[in-house]
Amino acid sequence: MDLGPRSKGSFLWSPRVSNAKNPDGAGWVYIEASHCDVSRPFAQGCIAPKFRTSQHVHMRPLALNPLFASLRSLTGVGPKLEKLYARLLDRDAPRVVDLLFHTPSGAIDRRARPKLQDVQPGQVVTVSVTVDKHRPSPPHRSRAPYRVYAHDDTGDITLTYFNARRDYLEKLLPVGETRYVSGTAEFYDGMLQMVHPDRVVDETGFAALPLVEPVYPLTEGLALGNVRRAMDSALARLPTIPEWQDEAWIAREKFPDFNSALRHLHRPNQPGDILPEHPAWTRLAYDELLAGQLALALVRTHMRRQPGRGSASEGRLRGRILKALPYTLTHSQQKALDDITTDLALPQRMLRLLQGDVGSGKTVVAFAAAAGVIEAGRQAAIMAPTEILARQHFATIAPLADAAGIRVAILTGRERGPARKDILDRLALGDLDLLVGTHALFQEDVAFHDLALAVVDEQHRFGVHQRLALTQKGEAVDVLVLTATPIPRTLVLTYFGDMDISELREKPPGRQPIDTRAIPLSRLADVEDAVGRALGEGKRAYWVCPLVDESEKIDLAAAQARFEELRKKFGEQVDLVHGRMKGADKDAAMARFAAGETRLLVATTVIEVGVDVPEATIMVIEHAERFGLAQLHQLRGRIGRGPSASTCLLLYKAPLGETAKARLAILRETEDGFRIAEEDLRLRGEGDLLGTRQSGWPGFQIARPELHGKYLGAARDDAAHMLSRDPTLSETRGEALRHLLYIFGKDEAVKLIRAG
Ligand code: ADP
Ligand code: MG
Repeated sequence: MDLGPRSKGSFLWSPRVSNAKNPDGAGWVYIEASHCDVSRPFAQGCIAPKFRTSQHVHMRPLALNPLFASLRSLTGVGPKLEKLYARLLDRDAPRVVDLLFHTPSGAIDRRARPKLQDVQPGQVVTVSVTVDKHRPSPPHRSRAPYRVYAHDDTGDITLTYFNARRDYLEKLLPVGETRYVSGTAEFYDGMLQMVHPDRVVDETGFAALPLVEPVYPLTEGLALGNVRRAMDSALARLPTIPEWQDEAWIAREKFPDFNSALRHLHRPNQPGDILPEHPAWTRLAYDELLAGQLALALVRTHMRRQPGRGSASEGRLRGRILKALPYTLTHSQQKALDDITTDLALPQRMLRLLQGDVGSGKTVVAFAAAAGVIEAGRQAAIMAPTEILARQHFATIAPLADAAGIRVAILTGRERGPARKDILDRLALGDLDLLVGTHALFQEDVAFHDLALAVVDEQHRFGVHQRLALTQKGEAVDVLVLTATPIPRTLVLTYFGDMDISELREKPPGRQPIDTRAIPLSRLADVEDAVGRALGEGKRAYWVCPLVDESEKIDLAAAQARFEELRKKFGEQVDLVHGRMKGADKDAAMARFAAGETRLLVATTVIEVGVDVPEATIMVIEHAERFGLAQLHQLRGRIGRGPSASTCLLLYKAPLGETAKARLAILRETEDGFRIAEEDLRLRGEGDLLGTRQSGWPGFQIARPELHGKYLGAARDDAAHMLSRDPTLSETRGEALRHLLYIFGKDEAVKLIRAG
């Protein structure tokens, strides 16, 4: 099965929901898992998974349907606008709920209603005036403004329009009548005027005019009016849903109910209503946190339900691996390895996070740990987020495995046909001890003989359910997550629940500090010359091209152009690697570079994660100001891996903004990933740490770490408490909580709720 990024949510469970009916529109529909992929990964391997016993999967309560209807069901949203909303809301087929969670970025306050003599210039006001006369633009001078003169009992005002249609304005502002006009007032030639008032309404219109209007982040082609209208229509669809929060808690926090919270946010009575610290927003943030913690708790309960199996070993294989290493482990590597080995021998399941900065040597720790379960006659899997990384892990591991007598293979989307079948057969028979690969590892037909340990590298690229999918390929699988990004505690809690943590704080010895410099792009030619000289001395360099867009497709154009230019200058030793290349071509390019056949590797950010070519000593990053701090740190981590001195050149476009300046300064100052993570947090919030560029927590739409982080503990306790009291979520509050889980897209977690 091809796992496109969009399919990741449902590949494991895609029950056919054909004849699910629910006559009264409330309550729950249970459907037969007639075509449930859950049972299929094991079709060949015949490992009886415990979860197979839950033959029923749950379905979304019908009451929620209006929230999950397509945005096109809203008044005024057609195919064209839908596309724009898809971009705005970052979702292929946006639904009503996605729009409702599109939070305002500000508000316009039209409540000031002064007399004309009291109007302050620059102020947004709503005035009540009587129209005196129209002065259309003179004929043949359509560029000249169309003016409408009006007054109240204290003064005069001119309403000024450009490119206006006369018949339209005469209808809008009939002479002799009173109208409410709202907009920004200015003085022009000593006269009070308002250019293009935002609102002109009569008495009836005024009664319905929202005097505080939310402002939303927009995308090109989508006007504020569009969003407000769609939002109105969405609010009108809000279904009646049961309260899922604890009554006493709600009273204590003065939270409005879910629907009222959304109405407050999108139809504020005062500007303060739309602030993230207002009870309305906070309520929704808490809902989101609770949904997240509940989902994590369900995943954890599910994973811990079966007791773990201890994999006892004497450390024979591990000893052989360590002996085959050309170096000795650092103190923190040794400590981490001990922790993991201890965990593996215990009868509980291991859920451990191994945090270590880039280049701190996580791979070898993971592999040596895997040797323990292998010695006990069981299997291990190491899953990497990209093909390049998987191949690299394999290349590192294969010779060591050979020396230790461990049978290892690699499985990615590229192993096909007989080769793939051979691997799968050996895996199922237990003739393979270790399988390294990409997410191809948890395709349906991959069956292990006895998987004991799943190592997931660079975890934050995978969703929780993907991690889960791999662990379901064995019995009581122990999980080790490797992450190169030091993650602050709050994030660990948010994404992983209370995992155990090992840290690699030291770098392997013999590394030289990286000389990091920031250079304006205007000196590009000098930089190219310097790189040319270095190449002449036999050095190897990465040249990372600017991030144009988050999509590889657009970034590619910039990389292609730079590649061609550098190739002209330096010839065949220049190569290109990017994310849209075929896997084999990508590997070949990396291999040529690793072997020294090519010396200058132009790249998009595909090299960001984990690539290891110790001979590379130069890193050029174009438009460094466009990258996040964590990302720059990751990129720089590709060099400084060998014994020779390394240089990192951050090319920036002047002038730099304050944040960008601070970011580059921190990079020049330190290579300590933990410190960089802290600074990053301070500068831009936690989003950047996980490589996302939005503010707030990645994966969260509403909750903001700096404001709502303090509720995380409460949400976690609440979730734990609920699940201990009502593990099947079938009592009143439990049933309501199921609604919450669906609303926040935790469908996978709902499916883990034990059948009653
Ligand atoms: P990470 O995955 O943590 O970024 P890697 O596992 O890729 O780091 O290791 C980076 C490099 O450091 C590899 O070339 C590895 O062989 C080497 N290495 C790992 N541990 C040590 C050590 N204790 N001493 C010297 N070199 C080491
Ligand atoms: Mg790594």
